[in-house]
Amino acid sequence: MSPLLAHVGPMFAQKTTTLVRVYRITETLGLDPVAIVPSILARSGATFTTHDGDSIDAVLVHTANGLLDYLDRHPVVLIDEVQAMDAAELGEVLSGWLNKRAALGRRSVLILAGLDLDAVGRPFPWVDVVRALGGVVAQHTAVCAVCGRVAQRTIVVDPAALQAITDGQPVVGGPELFSPRCPDHLTD
Ligand SMILES: [Zn+2]
Repeated sequence: MSPLLAHVGPMFAQKTTTLVRVYRITETLGLDPVAIVPSILARSGATFTTHDGDSIDAVLVHTANGLLDYLDRHPVVLIDEVQAMDAAELGEVLSGWLNKRAALGRRSVLILAGLDLDAVGRPFPWVDVVRALGGVVAQHTAVCAVCGRVAQRTIVVDPAALQAITDGQPVVGGPELFSPRCPDHLTD
């Protein structure tokens, strides 16, 4: 089994909920987990916060290179919103970590969560990086806010936020800005 696991999917697919659950279980088992958030997306300090308000403390890292220190010291490392990291740099870091881990005979694991598609449907490259390194990719889905069917996309329902995303700026928000949609309701 690969030590690299990625939870991917749209917003409102309970990816963060999955990370919080794994954090709590591994903490109970005494495995000293650490939760990490890319600093560019930190809303109000560093936390993993689910859409229903549950949260755990996390640490901020500025770039993928910043992960190395935590991968050296913690047997279970969890990262949310990983699409905010540079995918090429992430690939270098993870490749180096996998080689070093094997050489040292360590049993550490890395669990990542993030969006597979941006708000206008363009793929984020980090998922391919994880696959190329032999990682396991678990696909999550949400529920379409219009019809209740499976939603694989998140659309932007706020015009200013859509403009900012189109311009390449990071936008953080909840249901006031974003909405999960099936393929038939991308424009409703
Ligand atoms: Zn729908």
